[in-house]
Amino acid sequence: MIGRVPTAFATADELDHEALLRAPLRWPRPSMLEAPLKAGSAKATEAAQQLGLHSVGDLLEFLPRDRRESRTVAALAPGESATVVVEVRSITSRPVRRRGMKPLVEATVADETGVMKATFFNQPWLQRRYAPGTRLVLHGKHEARNRFKVTSHAPTDEHTGSAQEVAHYPATEGLSSTQILALVRAHLPAAEHAIEPLPARLRAHGTMPDRTAALVAAHAGNHEAGRRRLAFDELLLAQLSLLRRRAQRRAGLRAPVLDGAPGLSRRWREELLPFALTGDQLRALHKLDEELAQPRPMQRLLMGEVGSGKTVVALHAILRAVEQDMQAAFMAPTEVLAEQHFATLQALLPGEAVRAALLTGSTSAARRTDLLGKLASGELSFVVGTHALVEEDVRFDRLAVVVVDEQHRFGVRQRAALDAKARRAGSDLVPHVLHMTATPIPRTMALLRYGDLDITALRELPHGRKPIVTHVASTDAERARAYERIREELDAGRQAFVVCPLVEESEALQAKAATAEFERLRGAELAGYRVELLHGQMRSRDKQAAMAAFAAGGADVLVATTVIEVGVDVPNATVMLVEGAERYGISQLHQLRGRIGRGEHESLCLLFGPKGSTRLRALAEHSDGFRLAQIDLELRGEGEVAGTRQSGLAQFKVARLPEDEPLAEAAKSYAEGVLAVDPELDAPEHALLADALAATYGEAERQPLPA
Ligand code: ADP
Ligand code: MG
Repeated sequence: MIGRVPTAFATADELDHEALLRAPLRWPRPSMLEAPLKAGSAKATEAAQQLGLHSVGDLLEFLPRDRRESRTVAALAPGESATVVVEVRSITSRPVRRRGMKPLVEATVADETGVMKATFFNQPWLQRRYAPGTRLVLHGKHEARNRFKVTSHAPTDEHTGSAQEVAHYPATEGLSSTQILALVRAHLPAAEHAIEPLPARLRAHGTMPDRTAALVAAHAGNHEAGRRRLAFDELLLAQLSLLRRRAQRRAGLRAPVLDGAPGLSRRWREELLPFALTGDQLRALHKLDEELAQPRPMQRLLMGEVGSGKTVVALHAILRAVEQDMQAAFMAPTEVLAEQHFATLQALLPGEAVRAALLTGSTSAARRTDLLGKLASGELSFVVGTHALVEEDVRFDRLAVVVVDEQHRFGVRQRAALDAKARRAGSDLVPHVLHMTATPIPRTMALLRYGDLDITALRELPHGRKPIVTHVASTDAERARAYERIREELDAGRQAFVVCPLVEESEALQAKAATAEFERLRGAELAGYRVELLHGQMRSRDKQAAMAAFAAGGADVLVATTVIEVGVDVPNATVMLVEGAERYGISQLHQLRGRIGRGEHESLCLLFGPKGSTRLRALAEHSDGFRLAQIDLELRGEGEVAGTRQSGLAQFKVARLPEDEPLAEAAKSYAEGVLAVDPELDAPEHALLADALAATYGEAERQPLPA
């Protein structure tokens, strides 16, 4: 049997075929789904194109957002796009300075959780139409200063009197939700021509509506049942594409076989390492040993909470290469991190046995030339660096293992360039690659985001870690108390981080803000303590000096920007204060917080920001990164968190993650089943599936896998 059949679909009988009949009658033509979409006026047609609606088929796959998705005013985060159901309290209009723009309408709107200001552009008549008391469904973007920029809107009672039943389409300027609804009604009969990509065998199990029924239902019937079927198709195609890409990428490539007897790596682990490895670390090590011993290049992602001990695992892979007279490279996203890693690795390494060097943008020209010579000749066995490592003239003699830390910070191209380094050495070999990330994401998301990597998770924190207590401080009294707590810790011999608010506009502004806060604290709450400053605009030498001073205990407090976000390891630091915490994302704050709680003492994280913030509350309540990732995902929606955009996958039009995780799982096992029996998708029963794949991800999908 192929794959598993998702069982949670409504039967075809439950779908509303009546709706199809109610739609205005138009005889469908065979090419109807491919026909260009005409939306009445040229302007409306252009607006439709803005929404990606070029053909009738695009329109039918453009689903309304249902009421289930609407959010409360209080839960909105800045920058978030969302749908809300609110009541108008007051409404005014005022002129806009820009020429050609009609007056701006501003309404104070509220639901039971809160109040905000909604702005409507270019529609002055709304002031009269939406009198105070009108209930509205608004879709738009929540912006700074509690403003909501409305992109589409409808009164909740326009159609049926309840918000639930408003077929609410994500609209754009020039094409309202109501206009889209009318267009959909006019074109719904074309759904008859939808091509069914799934082999009849799957649907014969009786629970899955066909594509036509699903399209109709999604607009005018059992919305959710229809949507799920369409989402399944989308997820299935994504999985097929990922799995095929992964097979393609690996086929025909060879990596050095590292199956020699352990020497240095064992001695290091058994005699030099000052602690016992956790169960998860040991499992990861065994997995690496197994894969490094294969001629198939390893592409493994090590996903582990901050402080879960990824570096040790990486070091093992490096030593496996070095002890077999091969080379290894470790790539970090920033200079500070590369320097830190270099220091850490050197401290952990049996020094004399491994000839290692550091290569960053600040390495002097003379030093660099010398270093490049030694890498190319093989005299150096291990190099730590930034993306300076992928520059054209960096050559290796026999590169076998590459570790990429915080891999999400590197582009696909940089990673590919590093892969190519091994090949340039005159062989057809590529290195084994270990990617590392401290940003845990839920499993299914990981499958989509990192579809071509194998995943190992380190969930278990090293023994003896103390939990971090997190508080949100909003009022002046709370802030005063927070500084008092910091001074108590400092007086007890501990150290503290003060993290400045995120300034997205420019690094220079951020550096300026950090400098100002540094000056302020030295003269106020932290007068008399040794305070150091660290920001991205400082000279590399000064950054290093500040970090080193702090790490060595020569400073009590480090006032910093997010340059300390990852990797910094100072076990004696037990307090972290984050100013303007609401400007950071959940995962970023969690990362930051991971800088403390690394030693024997209990640690404290103080988030300065509004009490009402859902995100800050989540951080105060949860310490498990996987759980926080899930919450983040629920708050923000999949596009931003999962980074499916970067992965080169098409954005999903219909599927919604994480809610559709079970569907994604079903799609994945179905895809695996299909490819197991028909890797090229050339069996007749998969012809339409292959067509759909090519239509979605390009004709290249049809290429056969290399032998
Ligand atoms: P991350 O996963 O964030 O990169 P690190 O590898 O930097 O974590 O490890 C965090 C700290 O924990 C380091 O000081 C490291 O030496 C220490 N560590 C790692 N593994 C263990 C272990 N099994 N037992 C005790 N301490 C450990
Ligand atoms: Mg690390």
